[in-house]
Amino acid sequence: MAIVAMTRTMACSFLPLGVTRHLYETRVAATLFILHGEDHSNPFDHSLTFDMRELHMRPRIVAILCVDADPDRPEHGGARYDCPDKLIWRQLPELASKITSLRKDVLQRFGVKLRVTWFIRADSQIRQIHGDAAWCCREFRDLWNDLAQAGDELAWHPHAWRWSNPSRCWYNETIDTGYILESYDLGFEAFGTEFGRSPAASRVGINFHNDATMVKLDELGVKVDLSGYPGLRLYYGRPEVGSPIPEGFDWRRTLPEAYHPARDDYQRPAEDGSLSILEIPITTWRRTPSSFDFWKGLLPLKIYDGAGYVRPAFKGWFIPNVWGAPNRFRLGISQVLSRAKRKGIAHYASSMHPDDISEANFLKLRGNLEYLIKATKEEAVNLSIATASQAREDFTNYQFAANNSSTSSVQSPNF
Ligand SMILES: [Zn+2]
Repeated sequence: MAIVAMTRTMACSFLPLGVTRHLYETRVAATLFILHGEDHSNPFDHSLTFDMRELHMRPRIVAILCVDADPDRPEHGGARYDCPDKLIWRQLPELASKITSLRKDVLQRFGVKLRVTWFIRADSQIRQIHGDAAWCCREFRDLWNDLAQAGDELAWHPHAWRWSNPSRCWYNETIDTGYILESYDLGFEAFGTEFGRSPAASRVGINFHNDATMVKLDELGVKVDLSGYPGLRLYYGRPEVGSPIPEGFDWRRTLPEAYHPARDDYQRPAEDGSLSILEIPITTWRRTPSSFDFWKGLLPLKIYDGAGYVRPAFKGWFIPNVWGAPNRFRLGISQVLSRAKRKGIAHYASSMHPDDISEANFLKLRGNLEYLIKATKEEAVNLSIATASQAREDFTNYQFAANNSSTSSVQSPNF
């Protein structure tokens, strides 16, 4: 009660009455939603709705952990891409149980609530192979219910896998936009029908977007997408596991910050008239010449000899995955911390597949999360491990406050 009173007083001191009331009501409503069922006696597990005191006193990091709930990939014991009619889903339930134990561990040891966003497959390939685009939603329904009960978000991971008759393999369509949009329409409707509500967050298959796919998600009413990989471009085939047809994405012009994409440029915000959907890119960082990674990145890096595809745009950039090498993760987090201090808010977003999280990588995931929690505490930066939709709501509220604040002690994010 005392906190709310102080917040209101401080807000009143520099905002018009109407704005103050709006902020106050927004804050109370969102706080009630987010704190439901959580232990918030520990001050370190911050409310996700910004607080006016935080706006002017403490920078914040909002971390979003994404799971692309895909079937096992061929290199991890799944079906090869030249197999027309089979997908294997062994690792998804295993990851769910690992996350459940990690959630308890993190809450007990640090008082921090771990929230994960699960991006569920619903698309034309799922319909073709399992007979129904909503098959994953239904087949794992108990698992989804348990995760949602624990505070996780159930989001959407549509792929545009397409069977090629001439090449006898599955590949991700990136050229025929009509096919991609059809797959998205199909999956969106199936997801909504099965769960009784439409997905609010998405990560699209192989992170591929063009202007039409981003506009499509916006038109469908998806609120937040996390498919971006700032600085990166990747095109490749996977002949050794059955799919030689090149596919990939281009996010070279995207900045590592949340933005509302332009209608005619999915990689950038518009001057005005941006889409309503918020793109929160996966965290990537440019290597600096002082790092070993930078020099290693200059070496010619071929992925697959047979196809001869290279990924030159990876030079100079790296992805500090939350389940990846601790030295890279720490380097990435140090830059996220600097951004938070500079801008007032920064996101850390990372994605994983169920088959990424081997026992060894699970230990890295646990260690990296522990590092993130301790590093933010030491640097006096607020940390929330949020779902994608919570991050979107938090960011919208933060922007509103920053844009309407008459003081200049915090630089508002520049979009
Ligand atoms: Zn996927």
